[in-house]
Amino acid sequence: ERLALSKLTGLPRTVACPGYDPAAHGSGIVHIGVGAFHRAHQAVYTDSALARKGGDWRIDGISLRSTDIADALNPQDGLYTLIIRGEEGISARVVGSIRRVIAAAREPDAALAALAAPETRIASMTVTEKAYGIDRARGAVDTGHPAIAADLANPRAPAGVIGMLVEGLRLRRERGLAPYTVLCCDNLPDNGSLVRAGVLNFARRVDPALAGWIENNVAFPATMVDRITPAATEATLAEAERLTGFADLAAIETEPFTQWVIEDHFTAGRPAWEADGAIFVEDVAPYEAMKLRMLNGTHSMLAYAGFLSAHKYVRDVMADAALARLVRRYMQAAAATLSPLPGIDFTDYANALAKRFANPAIAHETYQIAMDGTEKLPQRILGAASHALENGQDIRPFAFAVAAWMRYALGRTDDGAPYTLRDPREEVIRGALAGANDAGDIARALFALPGVFPERLTGDERWTSLVTEILATMLHKGMAGAVKEEAERQS
Ligand code: NAD
Repeated sequence: ERLALSKLTGLPRTVACPGYDPAAHGSGIVHIGVGAFHRAHQAVYTDSALARKGGDWRIDGISLRSTDIADALNPQDGLYTLIIRGEEGISARVVGSIRRVIAAAREPDAALAALAAPETRIASMTVTEKAYGIDRARGAVDTGHPAIAADLANPRAPAGVIGMLVEGLRLRRERGLAPYTVLCCDNLPDNGSLVRAGVLNFARRVDPALAGWIENNVAFPATMVDRITPAATEATLAEAERLTGFADLAAIETEPFTQWVIEDHFTAGRPAWEADGAIFVEDVAPYEAMKLRMLNGTHSMLAYAGFLSAHKYVRDVMADAALARLVRRYMQAAAATLSPLPGIDFTDYANALAKRFANPAIAHETYQIAMDGTEKLPQRILGAASHALENGQDIRPFAFAVAAWMRYALGRTDDGAPYTLRDPREEVIRGALAGANDAGDIARALFALPGVFPERLTGDERWTSLVTEILATMLHKGMAGAVKEEAERQS
């Protein structure tokens, strides 16, 4: 039997239920990208806000590409089980904040209708870094990005996230409706300004008057989001059924820790997310930098070095003494690149992170974190590396992380087993590496990839030669050997 609203009264007492009647609340949010993270984060804060403060703030989801999540959630009236795994054990909660999910590929008109509905006051999204197609340096859309190109050619029938946000705003303006606040919840630095730049530039290309209206009327608050949420597996779904007694095809598991820092700039109101601990601030940037550099940067480093050391999960990496030392060293170097943040002790933050990474109950695959490296490296690692280089700080941990990514980019393990990189630039990387034989060739080819490495790194001989030297060690001694040698350097 599937989980559904009519089954809520039949749940065991051990499972927390929505503290409100979901059907009695209307929607106020359209969320694009109802992936693992949205279900463990924003939808949960909204669920708590509905329980404590009420309001018509349920979520209509839009899935741009797959229809799976719509087919999983809609027959369950949008309900799903959130499994929280901590040191103290496991708990389950049924979340009621999602009203329905529209599969845009199947029902494009319904997706636009939701964005243009009078009750919609917030359009939020978690669609992964690569989905946007915004060139940060130019503050413009990348016309070579497939979704941007398709939507510029056909702006009234958008298939990508920027095109959809702009068409939704166009319809609202045409109908005399107030705009929605655009709330990006992807791991991108200054995500509010970035998405604003992309939306404005796209709008200018299709309708300059609309662009002016957006510029003057639409808020794009920045956010910092944090909760480690692996992709659900068959085991997740089985665990949900065991805990609740109902089949649930949208169940998700996550850690106890959760954090959301948001700029409080909402032109049409917002749910009382602070009821569940969201922090509203003037400027998210310093929190964002801390999280991207210390959590995400370390995550990427340990994903490449760990995956190639045959560690399937992050917790296995943390159980490897040499790698765990490199994790500590990386966090310390990343912390040194940050400006002080009132009320935050970076050492405490690093200790908490190490504990979260080691959580034996969370099965977070290194291969999942390794995905989309060329999209992630700039904000996670390269900014911190540039800062360290300019300020005479330790660059070696960053050079090691980049060398590990370069080693990963070769697409085969030390035993010669091939794997796909799962990176939007996979083909370009393959082409660039054709004929590259040694560490020098490989590093040169990858440093030259367009739009990944900043000039201040590739133009610095100390940086390029250090990365090349570490990569050579990885090639000669294997990743596990290189990790061991690197960890011994510090003792
Ligand atoms: P996921 O794979 O479960 O979901 C990603 C969602 O984005 C899906 O709805 C998918 O259809 C959509 N999507 C992917 N590529 C797209 C594209 N090219 N165009 C349009 N839509 C696309 O991933 P997730 O775990 O939910 O993570 C999503 C994002 O959330 C991350 O990329 C990151 O920015 C942020 N985030 C995740 C975590 C985490 O631990 N999972 C933590 C913090 C932040």
